[in-house]
Amino acid sequence: MEEKIIKDKLVENFLKYVAIPSQSDEKNKDVPSSFGQLELGKVLATDLKDLGLSDISINQFGVVQARLPRRGEGKKSLGWVAHLDTVDVGLSDKIHPQIIKNYDGKDINLNENVVFSSKENPEVLAYIGDDIIFTDGSSVLGADNKAAIANIMTALWYLKENPQINHGEIYIAFVPDEEIGLRGSRKIDFDKFKVDYAYTIDCCELGELIYETFNAASGTLKIKGIPAHPMSSKGNLVNPIMIAHDFISMLDRAKMPENTENREGYIWVTDINSDVLNLRLDFNIRNHDREKFEKAKAYLYEITEILKKRYKKAEIEIQIEDVYDNIADSMNDENKIAVERLKEIFDKLEIETKIIPMRGGTDGSFLSTVGIFTPNYFTGAHNFHSNKEFLPIDSLYKSFLVTLELMKDKKL
Ligand SMILES: [Zn+2]
Repeated sequence: MEEKIIKDKLVENFLKYVAIPSQSDEKNKDVPSSFGQLELGKVLATDLKDLGLSDISINQFGVVQARLPRRGEGKKSLGWVAHLDTVDVGLSDKIHPQIIKNYDGKDINLNENVVFSSKENPEVLAYIGDDIIFTDGSSVLGADNKAAIANIMTALWYLKENPQINHGEIYIAFVPDEEIGLRGSRKIDFDKFKVDYAYTIDCCELGELIYETFNAASGTLKIKGIPAHPMSSKGNLVNPIMIAHDFISMLDRAKMPENTENREGYIWVTDINSDVLNLRLDFNIRNHDREKFEKAKAYLYEITEILKKRYKKAEIEIQIEDVYDNIADSMNDENKIAVERLKEIFDKLEIETKIIPMRGGTDGSFLSTVGIFTPNYFTGAHNFHSNKEFLPIDSLYKSFLVTLELMKDKKL
């Protein structure tokens, strides 16, 4: 099939899905956290039906699942997971993309007040002459993760249009609320997602390949002090804020997000709330290295014990919970083929592979903890979570080709 027809389909699908606002809402503890994600899910379920998929369902959490039965020989089953939500970074939830054809390398006035500067975003210069999708400056573009949704839907369409092509058993899961703590992937009906490996398409520029993420934990320190009137405060007042101050002062400033990069882990104090009686402090722990990750957690328990001894009259309590694991820790001799084939497909398509240890997590980080090895490859977009987000159409097309090759792959 002609490249142009496929690119048109990719863009058509992308514009269709970004037109449905679906920001997740961190303050809402329900899954899904927003109505828009359900709306998008319903549209996708209808589209999956039109594409001839089987076992289409939307569960109570808004997870859309479907299966495309195998065509031809083969044993393995592959899954794709993409997220329905776009991130809320204080920008509009309505997305109005604009396509700049044959980009000339100059600055772009996204709107009257917002300029996309090629000096501040020099990576765009690699796409001179290409057609690029930009925002109108008022929102993110939502290529994170609707470029992936468009990619998967276009690949399914391509397989329908080309019945002579054999492919493996394919499972799809579109999940809500990835951006607010990978909540949606936990709600997949795994008895309807019987895959050997899965993939996410949730990183950035052409060629990016990620199978190493943080190990992640979140925690809360709660301190209950003893209030007192200044007339009788001496020897009696126990100020929770000063205890929290001690806690923070025992953390290593060199191991905080502002001072770390690449594979360096951190502890991030993200929130602190107090009055004279009760204090709550929230923190995140991140590390690619499991051992260092466990050590960081142990250290926080240890300093809490020190504080309990120092402030006997206070009530001090710490809670730490694992959020997700490093994908790489679940890689083994049997499943590593999922990454090896991806690299070979990149080579075949003449895409330069850029392996990145991700300072974050993906839905795959959670899936890997439940035994589904899930590498992540590029959408083709740049500047996720920003109104300067942009998506070169040629990169979107290359990402689609990777998806299609994986679906057709006979070695997986
Ligand atoms: Zn994403």
